[in-house]
Amino acid sequence: MAEIQLRNVNKRWGNFVGVDNFNLTIPDKEFLVLLGPSGCGKTTTMRMIAGLEDITDGEIAIDGKVVNSLDPKDRDVAMVFQSYALYPNMNVYENIRFPLKVRGIDPSTHDAKVRRASAMVELDDFLHRKPAELSGGQRQRVALARAIVREPNVFLMDEPLSNLDAKLRVSTRAQIKNLSHELAVTTIYVTHDQIEAMTLADRVVVMEKGIVQQVGSPTEIYDRPANMFVASFIGNPAMNLINGDIQNGTFEARDTRIPGLSAASGKTTLGFRAEDASLAAAGEGQITAPIYTLELLGDATMISVRIGQALVAVKADKTFRAEIGDPISIRVPPEICHLFSTDTGQRID
Ligand code: ATP
Repeated sequence: MAEIQLRNVNKRWGNFVGVDNFNLTIPDKEFLVLLGPSGCGKTTTMRMIAGLEDITDGEIAIDGKVVNSLDPKDRDVAMVFQSYALYPNMNVYENIRFPLKVRGIDPSTHDAKVRRASAMVELDDFLHRKPAELSGGQRQRVALARAIVREPNVFLMDEPLSNLDAKLRVSTRAQIKNLSHELAVTTIYVTHDQIEAMTLADRVVVMEKGIVQQVGSPTEIYDRPANMFVASFIGNPAMNLINGDIQNGTFEARDTRIPGLSAASGKTTLGFRAEDASLAAAGEGQITAPIYTLELLGDATMISVRIGQALVAVKADKTFRAEIGDPISIRVPPEICHLFSTDTGQRID
């Protein structure tokens, strides 16, 4: 059992606010991802949970017990970092066994525990190799096994895939997902990669500038972003955002007219995702403008037009052929639209 609670947690260095009033309960066994751009405070939040960083204000509790003044080693959490920090002179077996020795765990149990952990990350055949004789992905798996072997109550993972190449990232990500299912241990995972967040998380916390922007399941934050920051951070390509004006349920901007909307009037930012829109016959869509870019993706063609400062993308069939500058018409039905206050950036329902 390990439920983690953050109550009004703040981190300040002088006047600089690294984490601003973080409140969250992370239920036992949840896989929680902290997601946000560089410098948003996600690593600091995780380091406070681990006990590697003092909390300026607020409380962190693990299983109902406030841990603010507890040493990292007494918190029963295991961390995996982006740099693997393996001992170069020890082989894989000894590296994985190391935390058991340090913690004074009964030596007669070590061998079974090391073999179980190494089997879980498929390193059984590499136990006698030194770290220098392993690939990056294998080294990261040793680091994972070293965390698993301790059988902690909480896993904390800080960008564990960021030193791996693209292909290995995908396969190691799948392995982490599978492991988390098998181990069923509360996990907090830090990343700036929204695909990692979407694929791994039970819930995602989106952060910017030390402030929690939204907490929700991957589907919730994708389908109902709470503000323009989340809308533009989640999804590839980013959500199209057009500044305009709504009067009597009709949104208007340059080359754009979308009727059938409600719940807003005046200056509004309208968003929709490229894959939700489609091409219409000439003049029949809600946006009509010349093609600005055209990219062949293999399974589809991504087309964009320029509306004021914004690039607006739409996904078309892979067989679509046209030239830059040709006019296109884009179908944007009101039900795919998200509305945000242009002034505050917040979602308007
Ligand atoms: P990254 O993805 O780049 O690691 P992050 O979201 O994990 O970013 P943090 O490392 O949590 O960001 O840092 C949050 C903010 O706090 C940053 O602006 C950082 O410069 C600042 N910060 C971190 N540690 C300190 C420190 N010891 N003293 C002053 N400011 C710090």
